[in-house]
Amino acid sequence: MQTPAPFEYERATSVEGAIATLARLGSEARVIAGGHSLLPMMKLRLAQPEHLVDINDLTELDYISEVGDEIRIGALTRHVTLQRSALLARHFPLFADAEEVIADPVVRNRGTIGGSLCQADAAEDLSAVCAAAKAQVVIRGAGGERVVAMEKFHLGPYWTAVGDGEIVTEVRLPLRAGHSAGSAHEKVERRAGDWAIAAASAAVWIQGSTLADVGLALSAVGPTTVHVTRAEDLLRGAAPSEELFAQAAQIASEDCAPTADGRGPVDYKRHLAGVLAGRALRRATARALKEEV
Ligand SMILES: Cc1cc2nc3c(=O)[nH]c(=O)nc-3n(C[C@H](O)[C@H](O)[C@H](O)COP(=O)(O)OP(=O)(O)OC[C@H]3O[C@@H](n4cnc5c(N)ncnc54)[C@H](O)[C@@H]3O)c2cc1C
Repeated sequence: MQTPAPFEYERATSVEGAIATLARLGSEARVIAGGHSLLPMMKLRLAQPEHLVDINDLTELDYISEVGDEIRIGALTRHVTLQRSALLARHFPLFADAEEVIADPVVRNRGTIGGSLCQADAAEDLSAVCAAAKAQVVIRGAGGERVVAMEKFHLGPYWTAVGDGEIVTEVRLPLRAGHSAGSAHEKVERRAGDWAIAAASAAVWIQGSTLADVGLALSAVGPTTVHVTRAEDLLRGAAPSEELFAQAAQIASEDCAPTADGRGPVDYKRHLAGVLAGRALRRATARALKEEV
């Protein structure tokens, strides 16, 4: 059985304490939340942190709440809580879509939204979900907080905007008054509980008969989450139509960069990304227009 390299372990009792420890130890220290991504990497010796700062006792980071014109999700909120949240189901149903197909109950009971985004694995479902939903990520360090938009949060594979001595504390989703919002996540996997062959997340905000804003992002078909900005630009300001969604799907298929592996060849993944992007956009729009519950 594989075992991690030796490491020191500390259980944080406050956010400030965790930040102070991380700042003192620098790049040798890592936060551990659910551990479902970090521990497998440590067992394979792909990650060898000398110190782990466990944030599982920081229950103040476990919440989903509506504050003004935002939904705020604490970084330690577990997959299962996202899956069952009535507030998210009402405003961002793509979370429940995604959570139904992320791993299995064991992983969903422990894995967190903060860990998912900070892992920066291109196949992670929640990264595409948050990108499409136009989320912002709150990063806290000794000097205070900064808020980073999803398109600037992932800097590369397994690399984020979180620096040494910082942790992610919150994810914020915009609630836009006067808009009908809808969203959906579509995924194809080899078998239940597996990582995506490809997945697409879409969110639309409709005003009158116009798509006032659109988010479209893909998982597992590039080195990082793919933000399909060319399709978003095409759709923004237009009336939703099957023809436009077909064009957006074509763009998604062109603008991703999958690699061939055991989950399939490049052409298949490109085709799938386009099909799933089209489906996600149609379903998100139907939900916004209350044509589908
Ligand atoms: C068998 C299996 C199948 C899976 N299938 C899927 C799937 O289909 N789709 C999917 O999306 N995911 C899947 N996952 C991943 C799962 O969603 C993980 O829970 C998630 O990726 C990481 O969350 P975590 O809380 O466990 O993070 P951890 O493993 O604890 O941490 C991951 C990384 O994030 C950092 N980190 C964690 N929290 C913070 C924070 N608040 N601030 C700063 N850094 C932080 C850690 O230092 C580490 O680098 C699967 C995992 C397993 C084991």
